[in-house]
Amino acid sequence: MANPLFDRALPEDLASIGQRIEYKGKISEFHRLVEIVEAELKTVSEDIWPRRWQDAAVDIRLDFAWADLQQKIPRVTGRISAEMPAVCQRCLEVFNLSLEVALEMLLVRADAQGDDIEQTAECEIWEIGEEALRPGDIVEESLVMSIPLVPRHQSEDACGVLAGEIAESGLKTARPFADLRSQMEKPNKE
Ligand SMILES: [Zn+2]
Repeated sequence: MANPLFDRALPEDLASIGQRIEYKGKISEFHRLVEIVEAELKTVSEDIWPRRWQDAAVDIRLDFAWADLQQKIPRVTGRISAEMPAVCQRCLEVFNLSLEVALEMLLVRADAQGDDIEQTAECEIWEIGEEALRPGDIVEESLVMSIPLVPRHQSEDACGVLAGEIAESGLKTARPFADLRSQMEKPNKE
């Protein structure tokens, strides 16, 4: 079935018909996001990778319309939310990063005149060429831009909870290397 999210279309046509796109998808449909998550997960042990993380949800609603009365500048507004695994840079555990993007974007031709754009300068600008665009590219770019530079658990309290629980419950054999390491470190400390 055709999906307007991944089909190419002229932004002017999308604005003219007031195209609405609602789609519940998966991370696996966005290749750059997959690459980013993979690169990040590769920095930690495969044992703690979330299973089937590629199935994490991406929830999308986009609305195309004209930004101006002259119907020259297409605009897309909407809301995108996504879940993706990330490595906390404070405790190095994998956690579920929630991304939320409120989109308000003007689709402006590279040769557009400044006057047309100025009145709505608060919107983001997505430069378009003569060719058709894929709305999914806008979604993916917006999500990538919303990933924090240093992903971390929201609060320090959430950090390392899992590691703490395992140690407290006495399941020491679950982390043989951690035990080995702490034994090896002891002589140095005394
Ligand atoms: Zn953490």
